[in-house]
Parts: sequence; structure tokens; C-alpha cells
Amino acid sequence: MKKVLVLGAGGFIGSHLVKRLKNDGCWVKGADLKYPEFSPTAADEFILGDLREQVVCDRVLNEYFDEVYQLAADMGGAGYIFTGENDANVMHNSALININIVERAIKFKVGKLFYSSSACIYPEFNQSNPDNPNCSEDSAYPAQPDSEYGWEKLFSERLYLSFQRNYKLPVRIARFHNIFGPEGTWQGGKEKAPAAMCRKVAMAKNGGEIEVWGDGLQTRSFLYIDECLEAVLRLMESDFSGPVNIGSDEMISINNLAKMVIDISGKSISVKNITGPLGVRGRNSNNKLIQLKLGWQPTQSLRMGMEITYQWINQQVKPQL
Ligand code: NAD
Repeated sequence: MKKVLVLGAGGFIGSHLVKRLKNDGCWVKGADLKYPEFSPTAADEFILGDLREQVVCDRVLNEYFDEVYQLAADMGGAGYIFTGENDANVMHNSALININIVERAIKFKVGKLFYSSSACIYPEFNQSNPDNPNCSEDSAYPAQPDSEYGWEKLFSERLYLSFQRNYKLPVRIARFHNIFGPEGTWQGGKEKAPAAMCRKVAMAKNGGEIEVWGDGLQTRSFLYIDECLEAVLRLMESDFSGPVNIGSDEMISINNLAKMVIDISGKSISVKNITGPLGVRGRNSNNKLIQLKLGWQPTQSLRMGMEITYQWINQQVKPQL
């Protein structure tokens, strides 16, 4: 039986990943500052603790694991990453976690380590055209991420890759592009656009209005959680280290995303564009490399994933109305 460690197992992607690994027959240990918010963890063992602390890491990564998935990070949506207020914490906290973990991964000679980087590493100057952003893997350098979150991810990619070169730690690195789905943060300031949109629409009255940050012409793509996990597991099975994009290439403007959710809700709601934290003008996953190396591409439309996510958030919102 494969022995697996998931760091960030109380978070959105981590809690789904633990379920998937359990379904696949693995023995799973999880660690996080918190338990999953919306359903009990599926992990066989779960350590509640702060991975910035050496003593906690000593309890978490204390033996050989076939696979380690490093998803723990201080992160959130645009309202958390792009206001500037959390920059120091984001850089310090996530870098500390990665430095602590890589040391122990070497000590116990883990079989393979997966690191979740982000599309936020890509240079701002390649993402100013909302219709034609460039996020191919080889466009990462010369680097100019538009957030400290992106800089920390780029540093940690290089950290893991240097340990692969100098200490023979087998690593796999993915750059996630906006992963969404049920059981993700949907309120409180750390939520991402798909969840925020679903919440606003679910809370709005028929005939009402929702607010959308910016002019709404900024573009993004969004990948459903199950598709993301399939790609991650394929990357782990492959001989390819990455970094590789894991995302959808179905690009949509934020106003059109809002309209899609409104349509799913069946309500009549208008969109009001207001000023807010934004990030780059356009972003889309470039999937050429992952198709070439892993033969992977998303199998379902954005609409299908948004329907499932809207239904789930609508259920969460109801008791609050
Ligand atoms: P999440 O915030 O739901 O999960 C991250 C988890 O890390 C949280 O549960 C948090 O409690 C935990 N954590 C933070 N600091 C910790 C600490 N000091 N000690 C222990 N645990 C700590 O985020 P997610 O959406 O599940 O993202 C998982 C990973 O994927 C993150 O590294 C994130 O940067 C990356 N990523 C996600 C997306 C996305 O769209 N969701 C996009 C790009 C990259």
C-alpha cells in the first residue's frame, strides 16, 4: 500500500486530494493548521499543527513516504493577494513551510515530492492583453510576477528544483490556474472569483444586482477540482518534473462568468462593475506542454463545474438568508 503525506490537507485542494488518494487505495497522513471545513477528513492520520514550526514538521515528516504532496501555503483570492496588506505574511509563511519540508524530504529520502506552484508566477507584461495572454511554461523568465505570492511560488519552485539537482530529491511541480469546486472557501475574504460569484448570486434577490470587481472585461480560466486531481496524479506517475501548467484553456471574461452563474441560478440579476483588487488583465492556461508530456486535457466544460459549485454554495448560503 502506497504511503502518502498531504500537507495542506485541511484546505480545498488538499482535502479533495486526500479523498481521491484514499479511493485509490493509499494510506494517507494529512497535516494542516485546521481540519477541512466542510466534511470530515478522509485521512488515516491527521496532524493539526503549524508547518512553520520545526517541531511540528518533525512530527509530520518523520519517516519514509512514497509520495509527499506539498499544498500548504498562506494564500487566498484577489482580495487577499492583491491588496498588499498580506504580502509579508504570504512570503514569510509559505517560504518557511517549504524550507522546513524540503530539508525533511531529503532526510527521509521521500520517493517523490509534489509542489503546487501557481499561474501567479507568470510575468505581468505577458498578461496585459485580455484576449491573448501568454502563460506558456517557458515564458516564466525574465520574471515579473504581479504579486509577492507569485514571487514566493517562483522561489519555492527553484528551491525544490535545486534540491532535485543537488540532493537527488525527485520533485514534480505544477502551476495551478484557478482551481474551483464544492467545499472551497466561499466567504470571508480568501475566496476566489468562481466561489465569490456563486455566493453573490445565491444571496441576491430575483431582480437584484451583484457587484463585480473591475470593468469585468479581465479574463481568466477555471479548472474543476476533479480534473485538477487527475492531472496531478498523472504528473506524479510520469517521469516529467515540470514545472507544468495544470489549468483550463477555456478563457472567459469575469462579466461573462457572472452572467453564466446568473443563468445557472435561473434568477434575473444585473451586474454592477465597481473598483476592486484585480490582478493581471488576462490569464489563460497554455496546455501544450501537459498535452505533450502527459496526454492530459480537461474533459468537461466550465459550465458543468460551475453548475455543481453553484448548487453547493447555494446550500451553504440558504441558512444565512
Ligand atoms: P487552501 O488555502 O484551501 O489550502 C492551503 C492550506 O494550507 C490551508 O488549509 C491552510 O490552513 C494550510 N496552511 C497555511 N499555512 C499553514 C501552516 N503554517 N501550517 C500548516 N498548514 C498551513 O488553498 P488551496 O486552494 O487548497 O490551494 C492549495 C495549494 O495550491 C496552495 O499551495 C496554493 O498556493 C496552490 N494554488 C491553488 C490555486 C487555486 O486556484 N486553488 C491556484 C494556484 C495555486
